Amino acid sequence: MPPTIYLAFVDDWEVRGNGTGDPRVLQFEPMRRLVKIFDRYGIRGSFNVEVMQQLAYRKLQERSPELQAFANEWEEVVTQSFRQGHDVQLHLHPQWSAARYDGRGVWKVDGDWSILNYPEQQIRAMLASGKQYLEALLRKIDPTYACVSFRAGSWCAAPSDSFLTILSELGFVFDMSIVAGIRYDTPQIKLDYTHCEEPFAPYYPHMKDARRISCSMEPIVCIPTNRFFGARIALLRRDFSKARMLVRRKIQHLTDRHGRSRPTLSRGRSGDEWTNKGESGVAGLVRRLFNRYIRGQLHIADLSRLNYPMMCRMMAHIRRQASHSGLPCIPVILENHTKDIYDFSDIERFVADVARSPDVKTITLTGIAHGLRNGTFQVRTA
Ligand SMILES: [Zn+2]
Repeated sequence: MPPTIYLAFVDDWEVRGNGTGDPRVLQFEPMRRLVKIFDRYGIRGSFNVEVMQQLAYRKLQERSPELQAFANEWEEVVTQSFRQGHDVQLHLHPQWSAARYDGRGVWKVDGDWSILNYPEQQIRAMLASGKQYLEALLRKIDPTYACVSFRAGSWCAAPSDSFLTILSELGFVFDMSIVAGIRYDTPQIKLDYTHCEEPFAPYYPHMKDARRISCSMEPIVCIPTNRFFGARIALLRRDFSKARMLVRRKIQHLTDRHGRSRPTLSRGRSGDEWTNKGESGVAGLVRRLFNRYIRGQLHIADLSRLNYPMMCRMMAHIRRQASHSGLPCIPVILENHTKDIYDFSDIERFVADVARSPDVKTITLTGIAHGLRNGTFQVRTA
């Protein structure tokens, strides 16, 4: 009997980490589209909504009324999706704690990108205000709603003396910030998850280092976000078609006579925030290309970054891991970024496959929290 995979379609919902990009373009419109796809196949998605951005908009809305319109629409999209049965949970980019607005559509988002680098009191305050905000908003629709899961901005969750303890004290049931194997050493992000003790199944973490499995039960669970290796040819194809689409979009923008008069309708721009040390310049580019297309690299199970053949490869890897785990049923967490979706058709094709797979059920993050509490999902100890 093959194990039953409980697949969670999770999306980190936000503008770019440096504050650029129009929320209507990167968040509102693609979330509505994605929800339509989920609804068509009877699937309930989960959105990790980035709340610090929303709180920054609300804080400054009196002085800059255009921010109020954005913040209102943010709530409209979130509550509408929630009403339709989709889950909403907490995601947090602490760099917004030091956000400044120039009054003309431009944000300067200067805070540290890792929640772990803030004083304990401030970590607690940010997490508590994000949770309270979501619960106040969504309990108007469902009084039993609870914010139970968390994903840290830029994946920064370990090691830390206090982070997991604070999460558990605030009532979070599980964290999904660990992706076994990733490592970043960039101007903004420093993390090393190359040695994680559990890449797949739920586990009780060592409370000061979520990369390690605890010997005993703990007040919070970690579930890694899934990842897989290789897919070099499919990746090459994906990169080609994405490049083609970007060029086409650029040409369209240049020829669109309204294009220049709507600069705010933008997709934003990432800088070097995700460029690892030693990966810039010509030598760095060569190294990157070699790793990408010849040696093969690790991919986070992020649907916005994958094409359909890569999603199939990811799913085959998930099935292999599930069968090796020996567990009868296992929750698996995917990732997605509405801001980065260039082609909804591949996602729709994958969602349709999942909807008709007998060994895969879909689940929300709230559903996973219930399953952890009632023992449906086993949790590993060391
Ligand atoms: Zn994020």
